[in-house]
Formats: sequence, C-alpha cells, structure tokens
Amino acid sequence: MSYKRIVSLIAALLLLILLAACKGSEGGNAANSPVPSGAWTEKPTAVPETQAPTAAPTPEPNMAPHSVSLNDNSAAHSQEVRYGGIEELREQYERAAEIGSRHGIYIYIADLVPNWILAHGNETQCDPALVKRSLDQVERILGYYPEGYFDQLLFDEFYGLDLYLVAYSSVAMGYTSFGPEVDPVGGMDMSRMRHFVCIDCEDLLIDTLSNTLPHELAHVTDRRLQYVSEHEEGRLFSEEAWNALNPEGFVYPYDDEELTNEIIEQHVEYLEYFSNSYAMQNPLEDRANLMGYLSRAAMGDSELDPDRYFEPCLIKTEFYLRCLRDAFDTSSWPEKTVWEQALEVLMGGGN
Ligand SMILES: [Zn+2]
Repeated sequence: MSYKRIVSLIAALLLLILLAACKGSEGGNAANSPVPSGAWTEKPTAVPETQAPTAAPTPEPNMAPHSVSLNDNSAAHSQEVRYGGIEELREQYERAAEIGSRHGIYIYIADLVPNWILAHGNETQCDPALVKRSLDQVERILGYYPEGYFDQLLFDEFYGLDLYLVAYSSVAMGYTSFGPEVDPVGGMDMSRMRHFVCIDCEDLLIDTLSNTLPHELAHVTDRRLQYVSEHEEGRLFSEEAWNALNPEGFVYPYDDEELTNEIIEQHVEYLEYFSNSYAMQNPLEDRANLMGYLSRAAMGDSELDPDRYFEPCLIKTEFYLRCLRDAFDTSSWPEKTVWEQALEVLMGGGN
C-alpha cells in the first residue's frame, strides 16, 4: 500500500468520524424510546410554528429552482450484473444490480462487499436466505422514495451512492460512532468521492431496515440540504432555522461521550422535541432519527400512533419535509410522499 493511499485512507477515516452515523439508537430501539407517551403538549410559545416558514421567502414561480448541478448518474441506472463467487447467490447478484439500476444505487452483497468495509469489523453476509430477505426489504423500502431521489444526491464532490449489505460481529453491535474499532453505518468515502451506507443484515435486524435504512439515507440527504443551504440564496433549510425549532437554550452536546444519562435527565423536559434521547446528540442524528421513525411508520411497519409523538417533534418533522421539497427537484415526486402522508395522520389531518 503506497504512502499516498495510506494518507487518503486516514483522511477518509477522519471524515467518517465527523459523519458519525449511529447504530446504537436505531432499529430495534424504536420500541424503547424514552419519549414519554401520553397527552400532547401545547405548542412551545418560545418557538412559534410559523417562525421558520415565514423566515424563508417563497421562490418565484419562474425562478430556476434547485439549481445545484448534478453529477451524471446514468451509469448507475444501467449496471452490469456483478457476480461474486457464491453460486447459491446467483439470483441475488442479479437482483442487486436490477434494484440498484432502478434507483441509481450500487448495491454490494456478500462477497462483493469490499475489504475496506470489512476492515471495520464487518463480516460478509453470505447466507442465501438472509441476503434474499435483505434485498426484499431494500427493494421495498427504496420503492417508497420518490423517483429520481437518489440521483439528486450526486452533486458537488459526490459521484455515487453505494449500499453495502453486511453482517456485523457481535462485539460491534452496540457502537454509537465511527472509529477504527467500530463499524461505519453511513458516511462518505472521500478517497472515492462517494456516499455509502452500510446495513446490518443479521436475522433480527432485517425487520427493522425500514428504520435503519431511511435513517442512514437521511444522513446522506442531509448533505444535500446543507449544500443547498450554503450555496443558494433563500433556501428554507439552515441549521439556524432548525435550531429555532428546538427548545430555547438547548444546545446539542455533539459529542456522544457527553450525552450521558445525567445530561439526558437534566434535559428530560426537552424530550418532547426529539424522537428519542439519542436524537439530542447532534442535529444530524436528530433529523436521521426523525426520518427513521417516520419512515418505519409510513412504510407500514409500526403503528402510526399520534400519541407517540409530541407536537414540538412533529413541528420539526413537518419543517424537515418542507426542506426536502425545497432542496430537491420535486417535479417527478408524487403530490404527497409517504412521509407527508404519515405526518398528516400523526398531526391529525389524515384520519
Ligand atoms: Zn445516525
């Protein structure tokens, strides 16, 4: 391995740490959220619902919307099948290419997962039944995303989106951030200028993919929101607008080491603003957790229970979904995405 290669790998690792995507808060924890259930609270007076929307101008009808120039993703839509060396997986190699081509994503299964992903403590998932079940779920979940959604994640320095289906070693199951001893779940591979999402396809976790996969894809989506916010005038999303929907005085600890039980207890009155306590760590996890929970309900895998969500949290969700509309070219989107439909039910308008 050349010196340059080592330096670029180290740089990529450092970026991975910055873009920490947690596993610990996802999937199976959905039922154990510390968000108290019960009656809704009043809207927070310090943060009126209309604050962020009124701060953002309505785009002119003839203004060129969503002018972020996209990188060409056409090759990802016409992928050749890459066959690995496991004969029993022949059909799944073909499906991975077919599903990937449909959405413009490269899907790596079993022995096609590259070594640099395995070097983080992941293991290949080669069980034909589990690989098939995983692809079934991936296909179903990606099918809920609007047409062309993933093409719009290729802009600026990002030239691709890769999805790795792996198995994790049991010792790595509980990690909450990137590092040399833990697994990356989502991040970007700066050595290749690509987004990636790494999904655990162990038996028990496949059924929670409708939380985990949208959670990780929300991390990727966040980069577009942030890029658009930084490079285009008048965009709805900004970290300031997002923070304005949090309780007055609340500051994300950012460092998961600092998000101790003691801190959570001190902030317990803020929990109604978050989908769970882990979401209080930083705004990226906050948004990803919201989308994970919302997606799971929107995709019919958990109950759309209005009592599960407090209004301040729903206000943030509603703002986030409007930010998506604002930052993406939605010309081929349905009138209402599954997330918007679900939110409508949660806010009491869709029953
Ligand atoms: Zn995360």
